Amino acid sequence: MQELHAALLELQELDTEIASAEMRVQEYAPRLETLEGPVTAAEKELEAARVRLEDLRAEYIRLERNAQQKEEKLHAYQEKLNKARTSRDEAAVRAELSLIGSALEADRADIRHVGDQTTRTDIKVDELQKILDKARDAIADERGELISGRDAAQLELDQLRERRENSAVRLDPQSRRLYERLRVGRSRMVLAPMTDEGACGNCFNVLPVQEQAEIRRGESLRRCEGCGVILYAA
Ligand SMILES: [Zn+2]
Repeated sequence: MQELHAALLELQELDTEIASAEMRVQEYAPRLETLEGPVTAAEKELEAARVRLEDLRAEYIRLERNAQQKEEKLHAYQEKLNKARTSRDEAAVRAELSLIGSALEADRADIRHVGDQTTRTDIKVDELQKILDKARDAIADERGELISGRDAAQLELDQLRERRENSAVRLDPQSRRLYERLRVGRSRMVLAPMTDEGACGNCFNVLPVQEQAEIRRGESLRRCEGCGVILYAA
């Protein structure tokens, strides 16, 4: 066999190996995703509870600020009450005081309610954190195995790709371009041997006698008219 054909065949074999190595790497993703399912769910739940807790704390601060403003108003009106000279003024101030007082009471009720919710949510966040830790522990070993398996498969793939690159750079640019062009869209077959009967080893199209002779000489890259593979004399 000619050197060029041998080099192209080596490339084709490497590409086949690379394709299966890629599949091995890819198989880890859905397995990891399935394994990590409960952890991912627990993480989402915990995150939602944390967001809720933050919202509640912000709400608590807002309500306290409101209540404080009302208290200040209340003090101001109490001073007004002390200074009220007529009974009509006094009645007006008392009416105002009563309104602010009720609003303040409502605020304080809200503060208690939000405070209770904050406490409950705080407890829930702790519980969810424990659930998450447990879920992580439960899959830790299997996950570790999957990840080291995936890393090993990736390393193998990287090494194959490097070997392929080293092989490919040794080809003349024209042959390399032809090979790469044929490889696109083909699962594996770029080169095929010519059979003893002078047919294409890929599609079994019988080749013209003249073409068979060219292929046997192996001086140039000859392609099957039927399927386009590069043919070589085995
Ligand atoms: Zn063919």
